Amino acid sequence: MSFHTLGLAPALVRAVREQQGYHAPTSIQEAAIPAILRGADVLGLAQTGSGKTAAFALPLLQRVIERQGLRQLTAIVLAPTRELAVQTGEVLRELARSLPQRLKIAVAFGGVSINPQLMGLRGGCDIVVATPGRFLDLVDHNALRLDGVQMLVLDEADRLLDLGFSEELQRILALLPARRQNLFFSATFAPAVRSLADGLLHEPERIEI
Ligand code: AMP
Repeated sequence: MSFHTLGLAPALVRAVREQQGYHAPTSIQEAAIPAILRGADVLGLAQTGSGKTAAFALPLLQRVIERQGLRQLTAIVLAPTRELAVQTGEVLRELARSLPQRLKIAVAFGGVSINPQLMGLRGGCDIVVATPGRFLDLVDHNALRLDGVQMLVLDEADRLLDLGFSEELQRILALLPARRQNLFFSATFAPAVRSLADGLLHEPERIEI
């Protein structure tokens, strides 16, 4: 199996090889990438280390590329911690670096001044990776236009709940366009996680690694 046969655009296949040094997809990438490109909701039960970041990052970038031109917030990734948000933002930026389009990937997290993050969002962005509380702060500052959002990723959904972000998540969901694709990744599937997934996902493709 190669990244090319999963349906990714040639520029992304090149980026994954040249920027990340990956030559073949991992199991979760093999299963998730075609499902996401098809537009399905995905429930991915996978540990860190499985390659889940690229499994959603590549299809997100493909959607942004397909949209062409116009800088518009298209995909949101919610992460439980600053570390994960930064790491995911890095993967997205590295993959985007060699693309012909100049994409803007914003990363935002709490515990630091919001002002540099607000400045960074001037002129818009294509993808935002954020912790839930700071995401809502950005919305309160009118720094994000949400009406063009097509994709939402909850990364490490179990940890999002463990860290008490349930209320923030519900507030965010209520702000987003109802017609969107939802990607849900979790290492565990306790009842609270299942209930969040049930409320969010529409006929998801279930991928368990
Ligand atoms: P993740 O589960 O997304 O945190 O990724 C775990 C580690 O696997 C990271 O160090 C990635 O760089 C690496 N990785 C992800 N996909 C691949 C791949 N297809 N080939 C080789 N390494 C990969």
